[in-house]
Amino acid sequence: GGWRLDGEKWLINNAGRSRHICLLARTGEQGGPRGFSLFLVDKARLAPASYRALPKVRTHGIRGADISGIAFDGAVVGDDALIGAAGTGIDTVLRSLQLTRILCTALSLGALDHALDIAVRYAHGRNLYERHLVTLPRVRRTLGEAAAALSVAETVTTVAARAIHTLTPELSLVSAVTKALVPNLVQDTLDRITELLGVRGFLSEGYLDGAYAKLERDHRIVAVFDGSTAVNRNLIADHFPSLVRAWRTGRADRAALPATLSGALPPFDPARLRLLSTGGCTLVQLLPEAAAAVRTAARHGELPRETARMAAELDTVTRSVHRAMAAVERTPRDVPQTAFDLAARYELCFAGSALLHHWTAGARTAEDGLRLRAGLALVLSRLGLPPDERRAEAYDRLADRLPATGPAPLSSSGTTRSTR
Ligand SMILES: Cc1cc2nc3c(=O)[nH]c(=O)nc-3n(C[C@H](O)[C@H](O)[C@H](O)COP(=O)(O)OP(=O)(O)OC[C@H]3O[C@@H](n4cnc5c(N)ncnc54)[C@H](O)[C@@H]3O)c2cc1C
Repeated sequence: GGWRLDGEKWLINNAGRSRHICLLARTGEQGGPRGFSLFLVDKARLAPASYRALPKVRTHGIRGADISGIAFDGAVVGDDALIGAAGTGIDTVLRSLQLTRILCTALSLGALDHALDIAVRYAHGRNLYERHLVTLPRVRRTLGEAAAALSVAETVTTVAARAIHTLTPELSLVSAVTKALVPNLVQDTLDRITELLGVRGFLSEGYLDGAYAKLERDHRIVAVFDGSTAVNRNLIADHFPSLVRAWRTGRADRAALPATLSGALPPFDPARLRLLSTGGCTLVQLLPEAAAAVRTAARHGELPRETARMAAELDTVTRSVHRAMAAVERTPRDVPQTAFDLAARYELCFAGSALLHHWTAGARTAEDGLRLRAGLALVLSRLGLPPDERRAEAYDRLADRLPATGPAPLSSSGTTRSTR
């Protein structure tokens, strides 16, 4: 005659405000992969005494959000509340996360976009040593690097979001890579911008009404929910054997690549979601071909030779990452630190591949070429290649193109207020 729910969960976004709760409950005595089920619980249909809202919890960021919880005590729901068959809850959650992990990185893009806008306007408006801050080489470099990071994050997120429709069986890997990479790249970049803003990055009122400090606080949670960075890197490590195998055999879903990069998308088919991508990662497995296309473009004068050199370096690093992944010894429960480090390196190979493919399939404007160059420079530097002024120079070119739009509230006393 239905199901009886007991237990409590905290923290949940909107637990108090929402009418419905999507709930994962243990329905098999022993738990295990088939021992949990998903329910869509309509609070309005529960006996009032059978559940209670847990109070909002005060958090470091997202202070306006209803981060609270809910407790059930003999709450009865009908069979119609069950999502899918009984015992399929874990399976459904693991498939759903492949979508949400990609989509939630939009929160990171918004944060960095806003931060970069504040930083650029600050650097153009602030006078120091009788010159504008933006004319200091170090400041310009920081802004350009931040713009490159935003460009990389946008490219990865765009390609991954399109892959939902096209490379659906590979999403377990693509989503873990995207969720591990983008929030961390953005957080590191925010740290650099915070340093640039100096005291203004620290104020919760006065300068821009504390907008910067707010976005920086709010962003910190993105790397934690929907699977922390460690959880996602563990998932990437679970894919090492299939990534190595597919790299060696050159397997790739070539037919799906063009639509992953541009143009009309086929409808999303959830039935194609897989818990593990046995075919590896098409984007990375086709990196050597994208790098070759970039080298050809450079030979024809379409790109600077420096870009082709960086594409070749990325190709070399990606080969070595696959060799190292093949050598990792692990059990599912005992993943060594080297596997987490390698997963982080693989994410950067993925980002570099996305940049190369994206440029190859795009309009190939001068702006696209500059973004490719700056993006590759960033990826290679995060992969640990020694600093190289020829690469880093692309950041400065990118910084020169950043528009310092709008009135900048930049009085040195920090009392001018913004209406944004
Ligand atoms: C603001 C906010 C809103 C939230 N909203 C919701 C919501 O709406 N719904 C919901 O269900 N939950 C929500 N949560 C809960 C959130 O999903 C969990 O906090 C999150 O999944 C991490 O769980 P935990 O903090 O308990 O860490 P734990 O799972 O206890 O992990 C502890 C530590 O171990 C690490 N770790 C875990 N697994 C591995 C591994 N395999 N290898 C290596 N290290 C590992 C983690 O990274 C972490 O550092 C919310 C949390 C917050 C802060």
